[in-house]
Amino acid sequence: MTGGLEGYDAVAEANAQKSVLAIHWSRICERLKAEVGEVEYRTWLRQITVGPVEEDEITLYLPTRFLRDWVRGQYGDRLGTLWNAEVPAIRRVELQVARADTAPPAPEGEDAPVSAPAVAREKVVSMPAAPVVDEPRQAEVRTDLAAPLDPRFTFDTFVVGKPNEFAYACARRVAERPSSPGFNPLFLYGGVGLGKTHLMHAIGAELLREGRVSVAYMSAEKFMYRFIAAIRSQSTMEFKEQLRSVDVLMIDDLQFLIGKDNTQEEFFHTFNALVDAGRQIVVSADKSPSDLSGLEDRLRTRLGCGMVADIHATTFELRISILEAKASASGVVVPAKVLEFLAHKITSNVRELEGALNRLIAHANLFGRSVTLEATQDVLHDILKAHDRRVTIEEIQRKVAEHWNIRLTDMSSARRARAVARPRQVAMYLAKQLTSRSLPEIGRKFGNRDHTTVMHAVSRVTELMEQDPAFAEDVELLRRMLES
Ligand code: ADP
Ligand code: MG
Repeated sequence: MTGGLEGYDAVAEANAQKSVLAIHWSRICERLKAEVGEVEYRTWLRQITVGPVEEDEITLYLPTRFLRDWVRGQYGDRLGTLWNAEVPAIRRVELQVARADTAPPAPEGEDAPVSAPAVAREKVVSMPAAPVVDEPRQAEVRTDLAAPLDPRFTFDTFVVGKPNEFAYACARRVAERPSSPGFNPLFLYGGVGLGKTHLMHAIGAELLREGRVSVAYMSAEKFMYRFIAAIRSQSTMEFKEQLRSVDVLMIDDLQFLIGKDNTQEEFFHTFNALVDAGRQIVVSADKSPSDLSGLEDRLRTRLGCGMVADIHATTFELRISILEAKASASGVVVPAKVLEFLAHKITSNVRELEGALNRLIAHANLFGRSVTLEATQDVLHDILKAHDRRVTIEEIQRKVAEHWNIRLTDMSSARRARAVARPRQVAMYLAKQLTSRSLPEIGRKFGNRDHTTVMHAVSRVTELMEQDPAFAEDVELLRRMLES
């Protein structure tokens, strides 16, 4: 090569380095995805852009300061290890916030894992009110404020049933008409994995789709994290102003603020300022405002002033509907028997139910085998074991006898009076549902009755539950007590 081409060589070399790094990076991304899961990966890591290598250090870019800090805290070490395993010469990872002028050029290919910050930024909930182009710094801080919304959590994908219909209706209402009197704040509460976060994201997605309002969604934990970071960097005023400029503020898992007095105080003021300015607040927690002991009284009072909606534990029917919806969305045929089995076995929350179904589906896809009850028991062996509550037939008999105020001995007596026979049938039904005992085994425990008697009891109770809601409620209540 002649001297005149030296400049070209440098560019070519830089380009070559870039494409080599891109190959390494896409391998690392695959690893990360497998380690942390698709959602986590998409939320945090997909936004990373690969920068240059200098000596033993590689620079990675993130679109916002918040993301940078988060990724550094959660994945910094892991990124270092993975890069070092790919390219032993790399010993350190430097994470930087990418500005337009420092960002590397966009790679070829739409969905390349090495994506430019401009592309990545769209993943973060941005505040439409912010003039992104003219004020890059401000836009960054503003996107900084909110967490990304999970695109799968919409109203369309939320399955409505008795336990959640009220919360769902309230959420829809707020999404349609934010800041309506009586619905501000909207306080959603319920146990883990019952759909609080899903509903909040759905509200956010709906509002952003309309594009008329600015929305900030974050967990209480992140609220605290941001607040503390603002104090450290002496930018609390800025933090407050940003928060107070949104139309809708959603804070998830508020119980996290218990015992965090300063953060609570700050949240209380933000809350008041926003509500007074006619903005909408949506809050979730694991308990009702009155049960959130440890929160300041005045905050509790204000939280209970709007609409308080609880999400109850799932019923069997809701679990079936959710499973049906998710199975049909996956495109894998899952027999009704399997869905029923799962809905009976995994009653704790929707997240676990979903996890079990996902595993079944992944398995079916991977091995190209159809889903059967046997395969399910096999694939979900560990999950099912953890959920095997080991309720004994004796326990069931005792609880049922107590409930209807009959003697325990009547569970195995020959008496056939309805007042005794009905509870006995319920106990048999529950024994079938909640234990892994066979029909003959159950029969034996009920005064050596025949397995056909147990079968008859099961179908009779099922029938009655369909006809008589009060009776169904009784049985469900007993089931829940026995399961907990
Ligand atoms: P929470 O915030 O109450 O702990 P999430 O909203 O994170 O629970 O829900 C856990 C998982 O269960 C999510 O994947 C969510 O999509 C799913 N899920 C919960 N309730 C429903 C429902 N009614 N319909 C569809 N999916 C649901
Ligand atoms: Mg949640």
